[in-house]
Amino acid sequence: MRKITEIIIHCSDTQEGCDVTAADIRRWHTTPKEKGGKFGFRDIGYHEVIRLDGTVEHGRPYTDVGAHCEGHNTNSIGICYIGGRKIVEGTDKWEWADTRTEAQKDALCRTLAAILICFNLQPSCIHGHREYANKACPCFDVRQWVRDDFEPWFKEQKKKVDDMLRAGVGERKDT
Ligand SMILES: [Zn+2]
Repeated sequence: MRKITEIIIHCSDTQEGCDVTAADIRRWHTTPKEKGGKFGFRDIGYHEVIRLDGTVEHGRPYTDVGAHCEGHNTNSIGICYIGGRKIVEGTDKWEWADTRTEAQKDALCRTLAAILICFNLQPSCIHGHREYANKACPCFDVRQWVRDDFEPWFKEQKKKVDDMLRAGVGERKDT
């Protein structure tokens, strides 16, 4: 397994409410350039895709280097939530926006927690694409969200597990 030191969050750059799947993104990413594709990757660029209803679809295996953030792919895992654009009310124009549904926020928390525990990482390793590129992606301040929302939740979950393990050890009896 390659060394993982970062988790980078993205949006799919699609309209709010548009139920795009990992298969759709895989098709966009892998269509050869000579056939009109924009990227011509060998596989979907992200490792995880979080759909509107919170379903998490696996993309590229973690063992493979992704293609999602220039200069940061080698040691990172890329997570993409579906959305990132919304229509400006009363117009036909769109703007960048944090369109994550509650289900997507929950799924993002669970996915991040699993990766942090699996690779023994700290929440400080979670970043947004726009920290590394002149882009809006993922259309929210990841550092602030991690600090205000994710970390308190993550600490609570870890405490629950610790309490459970302690209780389990206390109850065990040698027979
Ligand atoms: Zn991105």
